[in-house]
Amino acid sequence: MNDSDTSQRFLLNDSAIRGQWTLLDTSYQTVLAKHDYPLEVQALLGELMAAAVLLTATLKFDGSLTIQARGEGPVHLITVECTDDNHLRAVARWQGDTTGLNFKSLLGKAVLAITITPDKGERYQGIVPLSGDSLAECLEFYFSQSEQLRTRIWLHQGNNRAAGMLLQVLPYNSGVEIDPEQQNEDWTRLTLLAETLTADELLNLDSQTLLHRLFHEEDVLLFPPEPIDFRCTCSRERTADALVRIGREELDGLLAERGNVEVTCQFCNQLYVFDAVDVAMLFQPNPAPDSERRH
Ligand SMILES: [Zn+2]
Repeated sequence: MNDSDTSQRFLLNDSAIRGQWTLLDTSYQTVLAKHDYPLEVQALLGELMAAAVLLTATLKFDGSLTIQARGEGPVHLITVECTDDNHLRAVARWQGDTTGLNFKSLLGKAVLAITITPDKGERYQGIVPLSGDSLAECLEFYFSQSEQLRTRIWLHQGNNRAAGMLLQVLPYNSGVEIDPEQQNEDWTRLTLLAETLTADELLNLDSQTLLHRLFHEEDVLLFPPEPIDFRCTCSRERTADALVRIGREELDGLLAERGNVEVTCQFCNQLYVFDAVDVAMLFQPNPAPDSERRH
């Protein structure tokens, strides 16, 4: 946990427009340190991480949100996960030369999905059309279609930081009295002001200075900052569950070949080793809890 990685919600005076701001420093660098990512992939990871924080804060649920793109481009898989208590992890897999490639050419023909996995209840998945030239544009389109909420998103990364800002009209059921005409007018004025935002400002200013610079004639209500940190949710137990799904036969083959079954978490590089006894225990009808077997 550190105070440089934060997310903060704000409301713009009486305009029934909400916002979310985030700046990622250590959490982003922790993700970049796990693999030797080319610059273009680093940039994509930063944008996805900032977006995941903004969306998690905006959509409000208990559980985790994943933004994942899977496809045929040089970046054939990229996954970012953010929990409602702001633990963030991300990983990308790529192949070939990515030099000079932009958002569209990095992903190529791909499916971009947002998945919300609540602690209780059904998992929800929405597919984001890759219709825009940037991740921000695609997500704006997604919100306008799926939630019927006008949304603007700015995402930037650079100097080992990633940052994002979101503006969105409050939904009619938000409990705030909304005058549609006034909301329209406010939306036009506020988004025009926000359009002046530069990458440099988003990456380097604290939220208060930034919002004052953009909206100094507006009344901005800024909520307390919430800390964000890198945290991986992998565990020996979860890895064991995944091995069981692979099946006994495949695991026995690996044991015969290498002596151990080794699984490295793609997100955090944690290594989990299972020897022949461990593997046999996985397929016992009632295996003893993990902690009792290993020290
Ligand atoms: Zn992990």
